[in-house]
Amino acid sequence: MSIFFADPFDDHESVVFARDAASGLRAIIAIHSTALGPAVGGCRMWPYRSEEEALADVLRLSRAMSYKNALAGLALGGGKAVILGESRSEKSPELLRAFGRAVDRLGGAYRTAEDVGTSAADMDIIGEETRHALGRSAKGAVTVGDPSPYTARGGLAAMRAAVRHRLGRDGLAGLTIAIQGCGQVGAHLARLLQAEGALVVVADLDPARARALAGETGAVAVEADRILSIKADVMAPCALGAILDDQVIAALNVPIVAGLANNQLAQPRHAALLHDRGILYVPDYVANAGGIIAIAAEHDGRVDRAEILGKIEGIGATTAKILDRAVRENRTTAVIADTLARERLAAASPRPAAAQPRRQAGRALG
Ligand code: NAD
Repeated sequence: MSIFFADPFDDHESVVFARDAASGLRAIIAIHSTALGPAVGGCRMWPYRSEEEALADVLRLSRAMSYKNALAGLALGGGKAVILGESRSEKSPELLRAFGRAVDRLGGAYRTAEDVGTSAADMDIIGEETRHALGRSAKGAVTVGDPSPYTARGGLAAMRAAVRHRLGRDGLAGLTIAIQGCGQVGAHLARLLQAEGALVVVADLDPARARALAGETGAVAVEADRILSIKADVMAPCALGAILDDQVIAALNVPIVAGLANNQLAQPRHAALLHDRGILYVPDYVANAGGIIAIAAEHDGRVDRAEILGKIEGIGATTAKILDRAVRENRTTAVIADTLARERLAAASPRPAAAQPRRQAGRALG
C-alpha cells in the first residue's frame, strides 16, 4: 500500500503509531499541519475493522482539522488521534495514560481533546501524563469541559445561514429539522432547535437514546433507517462520517444538509452529487467548528463564555460567505470551503508547496 501518495495523506507532517503492550493501546496520531500553530484535534476511540481503516480515518479527520481550524480563524494547526478499540469495553485508565504518554512524547506538536468514544473525564486521565490534553472536566478557570454544547451552537449558526440563503427565511421556527444521531452533539442541537421553535425529528442506532431525547425535548423519534429519507427542511447528520453516499443522496428529501458529524461525504465527488440534486450542503468542518473554537480559548488560557459564544456566532458569517461564493463561481460549497482553508494555510506556511492538494495524484487508502 502506498501511503505517501495516497489521497488522504495529503502531505501530513507526521503520523505516529503508538503501542503499549501492557495496556493494549494501539493508537495513531496524525499531524497534518502546524503552519498556523500546534496541531489540535480530538482523540476518537472506535472498533475499526482493520488498521488500514483506522489510518484512513485518522488522516481524513486530521486534514479536516487543519481546514476547520484555518477557516475558524484559529492560530492552531490540524491533527487527530484514533485509538483502535471498543470504548465501552476496552477503555481503561492504563490505556488512557499510555495514550497520554504518547501525546506527551510529541512535545506539544499535537494537543488532544475528546471525540467519539472519549470524554472530558478521559481527558482528565490522559492529562495525568501530559499537559497537552484539552477539554478536561476539572472545574477551573481555564477549562471549557465538554465542547459538544459549543459545537451545537455553531451548528445552529450555520443552519440559520443556510436557511436564510436557500429558503430566504430568518430563523428556524416552524421548520422541520431531522437529526441523525442523538449523542452529545445531536442531543444539544435538538435542545437548541426546540428552543428556536423548530419541529425536530431524531433517530439513533440506539432507539432508547432517541426515545429519551424525544421525551425530554418534545422531538419526534423515528427508526434509524428512516431518518435520512424523511421529508424535512434540513437534514443534520450528527452521527458518524461517510454517510452521504450515492444511495443516501438519491433518497434525501431535504433542500439543505447542515450537520455536525465529521467527514460526512463518503467521497469528495459526493459534494457535486448533492449540488446536482439541488441540495445545499454546508461543509461539515465549517458547521462543527464551535467545539474547537471553545477548545482554542482554553488553549490560550482565555475561557470567557460570552467571548467564545461571540466567536461561534461568526460561523454563520463564514457559512454565508462560502454559500454565496459557491453560487457566484458555480462550484460546490465543499470546493469553496477547501479553497478558502488552503489559501489560509498556504499564506501561513513556510513551505507553500506543502499546502497543495494531492488529490489529482492520489488514490484512496484502504
Ligand atoms: P457520540 O458518540 O456522543 O454520538 C454519536 C451518536 O450517533 C450515538 O448515539 C450513536 O449511537 C449514533 N449513531 C451512530 N451511527 C448512527 C446511525 N447510522 N444512525 C443513527 N445514529 C447513529 O458522538 P458526538 O460527540 O455526538 O459526535 C457526533 C459526530 O459529531 C461525530 O462525527 C463527531 O466527530 C462530530 N463532532 C463532534 C464534536 C463534539 O464536540 N463532540 C465536535 C465536532 C464534530
